[in-house]
Amino acid sequence: MDRYCVMGNPVEHSRSPWIHARFAALTGQPVEYGRKLVPVDGFAPALQAFRAEGGKGCNVTLPFKFEAASLASRRSARAALAGACNTLRFEDGGIFGDNTDGVGLVHDLQQNAGVALAGRDLLLIGAGGAGAGVLGPLVEAKPRRLVVANRTLASAQALVASHAGLAGASGVALQACGLDAVPGAFDVVVNATASSLSGAQVPVPASVLRPGALACDMMYGPAAEGFLQWAREHGATGRDGLGMLVEQAAEAFLVWRGVRPPSAQVLAELRRELAR
Ligand code: NAP
Repeated sequence: MDRYCVMGNPVEHSRSPWIHARFAALTGQPVEYGRKLVPVDGFAPALQAFRAEGGKGCNVTLPFKFEAASLASRRSARAALAGACNTLRFEDGGIFGDNTDGVGLVHDLQQNAGVALAGRDLLLIGAGGAGAGVLGPLVEAKPRRLVVANRTLASAQALVASHAGLAGASGVALQACGLDAVPGAFDVVVNATASSLSGAQVPVPASVLRPGALACDMMYGPAAEGFLQWAREHGATGRDGLGMLVEQAAEAFLVWRGVRPPSAQVLAELRRELAR
């Protein structure tokens, strides 16, 4: 068996071992996937130890995605743009770092939720690790307008500045704003903040939602309920982050194994599992 794991803090809640076990079973790949709780100041030694034990690669979650990018000796273009990695693959003489969060989110919105992003108006709330990871692939989906709103305006501005070249080349109007100054209404709203995780209110007014908008929170499970209810109450279709979770995992599996697992099937299975 080839060994992989998810490293983070906290990590006990992670559904990734379940998801990768299903991917391995459905593709016949000899993959074993666990979880490792890593001390906040101990990511580099934990990574080295897992490699020394024979690990082939890992997923990286809060709060280590930026550190993972700095430890990678080679990065994909999307990971370099994000400055953050959620997927590492051990290679001869180094570590390859990738970021599959954004492509996972875009796949979930377009394929699973059936909402095309090209030509639409998008609002991305949040400019932390998750926001940074998804902005490039969202720009590449060629919306008409993409606004990044964040509590700390400077973080949104920095993220927009680092993606300005890509946005220009893709014909996307990209701008930053604070949470109290979001301009207009949107077809798709993505909450990439930790508001739901911390039980805080939805951080933007309902006026950002066009009638029939898709409103997606990266959170899932009971913590996402407040956001989903907010979406329903204001005429939008709510979506949680479970689809993104499975799709980013499928992309990581592809990076490691060269095989893309049947993610839609596993998403349906996981929803059934969590509803029990
Ligand atoms: P992070 O790097 O700590 O960033 C947190 C972000 O949330 C920042 O933009 C922060 O704003 C903002 N924020 C925190 N509390 C807020 C509040 N009460 N009101 C408004 N904004 C608030 O965390 P992250 O890695 O980006 O993760 C964000 C969320 O996405 C987490 O809940 C995580 O579980 C989820 N996530 C899900 C998936 C998935 O596959 N479904 C993947 C990745 C992440 P400031 O900059 O002002 O501090």
